[in-house]
Amino acid sequence: MMIDQNTRKRLFEAVANRVIAGADELTDLDRAIGDGDHGTNMRRGFEAVLAAVDELAAKNLADSLKGVGTTLVMKVGGASGPLYGTLFLSLGKSLADDVSREQVADAFAAAIDAVKARGKSDVGQKTMLDVFLPVLAVLREGGDGLPTRLKAAARLAAENTIPMRAIRGRASFLGERSIGHMDPGARSSELMIDAVADVMEGCA
Ligand code: ADP
Ligand code: MG
Repeated sequence: MMIDQNTRKRLFEAVANRVIAGADELTDLDRAIGDGDHGTNMRRGFEAVLAAVDELAAKNLADSLKGVGTTLVMKVGGASGPLYGTLFLSLGKSLADDVSREQVADAFAAAIDAVKARGKSDVGQKTMLDVFLPVLAVLREGGDGLPTRLKAAARLAAENTIPMRAIRGRASFLGERSIGHMDPGARSSELMIDAVADVMEGCA
C-alpha cells in the first residue's frame, strides 16, 4: 500500500483529533491511578502535531513519523511523552512510503521493543505495551476485516488492563490499589489505533 502525502495527513489528523477528543477521559483515568495529567499532556502534544500537520505530511513517511515523534517528545512531557516519542521515532526508522502489511508489522514490533527498552518495561505491567502487543499479533495475522479486528483487539486489550496491577509508571506506587482501573496510556494507545483503523477502512 502507498502511504502518500494525503494519507499521511489524514492519519496524523485522525490520530491527533481522536486523542484530543479523548483528553478529558484520559485525564480522569490518570486521576484515578496517577497524577491526572495524561489527557493534558497528550492534548498538548497532538495540538502541536495538528498545528504542523501540513509540514509534517509533506515529508516522506519515515521523516514525517520522526517529526511526529520529535514533536511528542518536546511537547507531551510526563512518562508518556518520551515513550510515545520513541514509538514514532522508531517507526520512522524503517518505513518507506510504499509498504506492505508485513513491513508495518516489523516496524511496529521494532518500535515496541524500543518503547520496552526506554521504559524498562514489558507486557503485563499495566501500560501502553499491553495494548501494543495484542494489536501487533492481529496485524501480523492480516486477513479479512483487518481494521475492525485491530479496533476490537485494542479495545479488549485496554479493558484487560483494568484487573492488572501496575508494575511500571506512577500507578505502580499504588500497588494493589491500581487494580480496578483502566491504564490511561493503554486507553490513549487504543484511541490512536482506532483512529488509524478508521483511516485504513476509508482507504479500502
Ligand atoms: P506520568 O505518569 O509521568 O504522569 P502520563 O500520565 O502522561 O505520565 O502517562 C502515564 C502512562 O504512561 C501510563 O498510563 C502508562 O501507560 C505509560 N507508562 C508509564 N511508565 C511506563 C513505562 N515504564 N513503560 C511503558 N509505559 C509506561
Ligand atoms: Mg500522569
